Amino acid sequence: MKYTFVTLFPNLIEGYFKDSILKRAIEKGILEIDYINPRDYSTNKHHKVDDTAVGGGAGMVMNPQPLFDALESLKAQDENVHIVFMTPVAKPFVQNDAKRVAKKSHIAFVSGRYEGIDERVIEKYADEVFSIGDYILTGGELASLVVCDAVSRNIDGVLGNADSLEIESFETPLLEAPSFSKPQIYEGLSVPSEYLKGNHSKIRSLKLALSEAKTKFFRPEQLKKHQTQSH
Ligand code: SAM
Repeated sequence: MKYTFVTLFPNLIEGYFKDSILKRAIEKGILEIDYINPRDYSTNKHHKVDDTAVGGGAGMVMNPQPLFDALESLKAQDENVHIVFMTPVAKPFVQNDAKRVAKKSHIAFVSGRYEGIDERVIEKYADEVFSIGDYILTGGELASLVVCDAVSRNIDGVLGNADSLEIESFETPLLEAPSFSKPQIYEGLSVPSEYLKGNHSKIRSLKLALSEAKTKFFRPEQLKKHQTQSH
């Protein structure tokens, strides 16, 4: 998978790939990362990339020209690139989206800054738009890293143990049961005794009950989905 980050601030993104799982995936040749800075495409003599909003309104908006030229050059390099705009004005990104787009060969994440991107750019180039939640960030860089990270876990070879994908929250509507590590008793706090008895069917039942309890408390709408699916 190749990821191209279209951003005015590539430095904000680069550090994330310098350690841990995604660094190893790059070293193994599973992931490739590239950056395009729209400022490099600005024809303005001061390399300006934003201007006041037409029709009024607070703040600056990213101009179409640098982004049109940057994205044309990207598409000329790879006509199959899947272009995703990060924006709060979109449906929220979920685990099924991560699994679906993990099958692409090349994803470009376009990050807005200021009050956002001239809508004509999104209309012309977006294959897809994602929000990462109902709040406003200062820019799309963190949002694109969130999506990139979640997608990457679903690409073969990225995770050391792919089995962990199957039991995670959102693979079924239920949230994952609580996990415990060693020692069995720490500072007087014990793991649930059933986990220690080695009866796997009883452990499975307990984990399901704990999953349901957590889901009921934190995400009742997910529990309803689970109950509908299991009838
Ligand atoms: N004026 C915009 C609005 O009210 O919808 C917000 C612009 S925000 C300050 C600047 C950029 O941050 C956006 O263009 C987008 O790329 C990114 N951004 C902010 N919040 C986001 C979110 N929840 N999900 C994805 N991207 C987000």
